[in-house]
Amino acid sequence: MSTQDTFPTVVIGAGPVGLAAAAHLAERGLDFLVLEAGDGPAAAMAAWGHVRVFSPWRYNLDAAARRLLEADGWIAPDLAQLPLGAQIVEDYLLPLTKLPALAGRVRYGARVVAISRDGLDRVRSTGREQAPFLIRLADGQELTAKAVIDATGTWPTPNVLGGSGLPAHGEPEAAAYIDTALPDVLGRDRDRFAGRHTLVVGAGHSAANTLLALAQLATEVPGTQVSWAIRTGAATRTYGGGDADALPARGALGTRVRALVDSGAITLHSGFSVRSIAVDGGQVAVTARSGATVTADRIVSATGFRPDHTIASELRLDLDPIMGSTRALAPLIDPNQHSCGTVPPHGVDELTQPEPGYYAIGAKSYGRAPTFLMATGYEQARSVVAALAGDWDAARDVQLELPETGVCSSSAALGAEDDSACCGAPEPAQVQVSRGLSTGIGGGLLTLPVLQPATEAGNGGGCCGS
Ligand SMILES: Cc1cc2nc3c(=O)[nH]c(=O)nc-3n(C[C@H](O)[C@H](O)[C@H](O)COP(=O)(O)OP(=O)(O)OC[C@H]3O[C@@H](n4cnc5c(N)ncnc54)[C@H](O)[C@@H]3O)c2cc1C
Repeated sequence: MSTQDTFPTVVIGAGPVGLAAAAHLAERGLDFLVLEAGDGPAAAMAAWGHVRVFSPWRYNLDAAARRLLEADGWIAPDLAQLPLGAQIVEDYLLPLTKLPALAGRVRYGARVVAISRDGLDRVRSTGREQAPFLIRLADGQELTAKAVIDATGTWPTPNVLGGSGLPAHGEPEAAAYIDTALPDVLGRDRDRFAGRHTLVVGAGHSAANTLLALAQLATEVPGTQVSWAIRTGAATRTYGGGDADALPARGALGTRVRALVDSGAITLHSGFSVRSIAVDGGQVAVTARSGATVTADRIVSATGFRPDHTIASELRLDLDPIMGSTRALAPLIDPNQHSCGTVPPHGVDELTQPEPGYYAIGAKSYGRAPTFLMATGYEQARSVVAALAGDWDAARDVQLELPETGVCSSSAALGAEDDSACCGAPEPAQVQVSRGLSTGIGGGLLTLPVLQPATEAGNGGGCCGS
């Protein structure tokens, strides 16, 4: 036994993927601790708890977590239903944290601010692999760990409004007028938007979601106005193909947004790449690089998310220069090539960094790619924990069942009558990689559905998380 083995594996983040890792660690009888910044499980998901997800329950439950829960008498929800984010937290993740296998091993209010090797900075190589990790919390406490599973997501670090990836001129000064993705327009945040003019910036599904909520509010509260700015020349990606769309759910979502634009309920500003924001008389004047200006009371920035690697900056990371994921993962998740449903299965080999024993999994592992699905993260968690247990056959036997359609949108999620789901198409595609075989990604056999790329270059990403 090395000195490292006397320390627990520390999982950072009690979101769905961090808790899945905890369930796998518990099943394998490994010592672990989960550190969560929020005051309850899945603080990020709870923040967008009013949003109905686009994949049904069957894709949102981790297998190990489900086994542990069911052994304790828990009854799974209707697997075909699309839950709200809040239902995933309340009906699945909260009960999971209360199981004897996890209870007492999840610490809330524990924000990690830095990770290093105990006694070694990033430059020191001698003895590195044997040294435990040192984890520093916001309150100054320090913990040691055998391995670190970083499942902190990307929710706290949204993309900026500036069309070039830099903050727009005046963006920080206008912060009080800007909501980041998915305010609860029809619920707790209603007063901020009722009777006011809001500009939504972004072309992904978070933007579509907010546009539909604002348009609903406009029918209820006179004076509510909705404008929408996208970088591209046309809202093709958001609209999808309507009735002709190969993906019916995307068509239905896009059709509703398009109808609101066509009716004048939403004013679309295409080719609008935000350059500057000026606060003037209680309003914000948003100016594009083209020189066009929209003046509104509020802005909703739905431009996607980016990873924050600063907590791991004293570790040896080799990040893809575009995605900010590992280099091995980047081509598998590139939104120019993949939608969420076509990402191939991957595990510990694709997630390994030069720093042995540190793995970023979950939404954070995808960096800036918006193609992440919980089901993918659950397989990452299973594979990484198997590797930590020394079970390399299981670690490398990566398998994934993803929803057939690749775009995370759903008419059901948005209240339309057709409840077919994008991330939850009725017949899932089987995607399997077996590394013993000779072709395909990772040297294995790969069967993928034929899908269209999820994104064109526009504001934000194109999938569930944008
Ligand atoms: C609106 C929306 C809808 C989505 N719909 C779907 C869907 O239908 N299907 C699907 O499969 N996926 C969907 N996703 C994508 C993805 O599955 C979710 O974002 C999911 O919550 C990611 O899980 P995670 O555990 O990786 O990260 P998160 O859920 O973001 O969890 C990260 C956790 O880490 C904690 N944390 C962060 N920083 C620290 C720190 N420094 N120290 C300690 N704790 C920290 C956070 O508080 C949080 O609890 C959606 C995403 C969004 C935003």
